[in-house]
Amino acid sequence: MSLFGKDPRNEVRAIRRKTLNMILESSRSSFPNEFGALLRSKEGVIHELVLLPGTISGSRHAIFQLHMMPIDFSIVGTVHSHPSPNFSPSEADLDFFRRYGRIHIVTSYPFEEVDWAAYDLNGEEMELEVVD
Ligand code: ZN
Repeated sequence: MSLFGKDPRNEVRAIRRKTLNMILESSRSSFPNEFGALLRSKEGVIHELVLLPGTISGSRHAIFQLHMMPIDFSIVGTVHSHPSPNFSPSEADLDFFRRYGRIHIVTSYPFEEVDWAAYDLNGEEMELEVVD
C-alpha cells in the first residue's frame, strides 16, 4: 500500500474521454471474455492504458496476477470488464483492489458510455470526471 501513498499530487480526479472510449471499445471487442489493463495517470488524469501480456483469459476475474503487476508510480490502478450488465466489484475484485493500486474501473455489458464505474481501494464508488 505504501507504494501508492497519499501525496495529493498523485490524486486521480479525471480520465480522458479518448482513454475511456478505448476502454469501452476494448471491453466490447473482448466480449464474452474479460478485458483487463492498467491505468496510467499524469497530473491526476488517467491518460493511458498499459496492457499486460497474458492477462486476457476466458475465466472470470482471473485476469490479473499480482506477481505480474509492475511497480511503476505512474500506474494508479486497473480496469477490467464484466461480461454481464453489473459493474459492481465481486469479492475477488475487492480483494484485489485492496492489494494493488488506488483506483479501479469496471465496465459492464453492453459497454456503452454509461456502463462503467470507478472504485477506490476499499471498493467504494468514486467520482471520476471525463475530460477532453
Ligand atoms: Zn470484476
